Amino acid sequence: MTAVFPRNTPSPADIWQMDHDHVLHPWANFGPFEEKGALVIARGEGCHLWDAEGRRYFDAIGGMWCTNIGQGRKEMADAIAAQVERLAFSNTFVDTTNEPSAMLAAKLAELAPGDLNRVHFTTGGSTAVDTAYRMVQYCQHCMGRPEKTQIIARNMSYHGSTYISQSVGKRPGDRVEQFRYKLDGIHHISAPNPYRAPEGMDEAAFCDWLVAEFEAKIAEIGPDRVGGFFAEPIQASGGVIVPPEGYLRRMREVCDRHDILFVADEVVTAFGRIGHWFASESEFGIVPDIITCAKGLTSGYIPLGALIFSDRIWEAMAADGGRWFTSGFTYSGHPVACAAGLKNIEIMEREDILGNAARVGALFEARMKRLEALPMVGQVRGRKLMICVENVADKETRALLPEDLDVGTRIADAAEAMGLMVRPMGHLNVMSPPLTLTAGDVEFVGDTLERAIRQVADDLTRAGIR
Ligand code: PMP
Repeated sequence: MTAVFPRNTPSPADIWQMDHDHVLHPWANFGPFEEKGALVIARGEGCHLWDAEGRRYFDAIGGMWCTNIGQGRKEMADAIAAQVERLAFSNTFVDTTNEPSAMLAAKLAELAPGDLNRVHFTTGGSTAVDTAYRMVQYCQHCMGRPEKTQIIARNMSYHGSTYISQSVGKRPGDRVEQFRYKLDGIHHISAPNPYRAPEGMDEAAFCDWLVAEFEAKIAEIGPDRVGGFFAEPIQASGGVIVPPEGYLRRMREVCDRHDILFVADEVVTAFGRIGHWFASESEFGIVPDIITCAKGLTSGYIPLGALIFSDRIWEAMAADGGRWFTSGFTYSGHPVACAAGLKNIEIMEREDILGNAARVGALFEARMKRLEALPMVGQVRGRKLMICVENVADKETRALLPEDLDVGTRIADAAEAMGLMVRPMGHLNVMSPPLTLTAGDVEFVGDTLERAIRQVADDLTRAGIR
């Protein structure tokens, strides 16, 4: 049956039906989708969403790690509308520019660490990572090291959904055989997840082991062939993996020793998620060569991504005048998106939203950590407003529940019925609320998620599963 385009204002049921019949959702799971369809979201304000039936939810997913300043801000609407009226579009190819794009680039250079003063705009995170991959190759070539074409990334990383960015990432569930990933030239090493460290290894020993593994991988490929290392400071969609103390600093040192460019994928961690403009330097003490960002750059009001890269890379690429950087998108430096980015950063500065993320984020982290007292919660990890609950069958052995139980979805569904949205990812539940949440919101999210986990655990016990 095909839904019919409605002549009048569509009812919630019409919307559900049109979506069901015509939309292929990102990461669609065909079986459950066919049966259940999608939840229709109608409105957003601050940290809350309303569905088409008028039910209210606290959005602890934060859109998708992105609604940092919260939804429904008139100031954002006004800035976007004013830019549409002034100049809706003009390309930034080769030698044309516009005011918001130039201003946002200058602002990003001011906020970014070290000599990361150069900006290339993209349409989102995936296209930023894709472009970073190309920039690494191009820059190494310009630096007189054309053999350095190989890159190293980590297991359990997510870097986007274009062909290259998804090949740089590597989460087991994404690797369906029918997709032909780019396997030559992209190598993976272990995820720095202390909770899943080899048996008996403490965090310090695990860190030594990870650095040694990196060195061994470089030696195996050949140091003169490795051009770049791609890493999320905290691996987001792989399960909010916070690396061991000192790990990123030591990986940076290894990169320096072998002339490997360090690409920090800060699509999630930038713009306040853990209380800083950028996590690389402020939280982990490293200055990358390239930072990729998106999401919180506009707080999701309009799509926009960027690479922020060093003067050193710029100078290498520009050294031989007359060279072209043959990469870019129609919408690179889109004036409306950049105007949204500028207003978003202005609001963050004026309201000290990063300060709130740090203060309330610390409460959030502490409240969520208390969920570890529950029998089914193996670990709660993350920093500030980037938190993940790992559900297990056995806290001692850290064994997982059977995959087909889909415990993360059961908990997310139970929470949703209680007015809270958390994101399910296999056996995990992930949270990244807007940075404007209050101490009261923290209690609501903590108490509600606790009830949801208890309810699912009881259901599983009653069914004789645990
Ligand atoms: N990098 C990271 C670390 C991400 O988490 C994501 C998206 N979740 C991306 C890249 C891709 O960004 P986008 O979906 O905007 O293309």
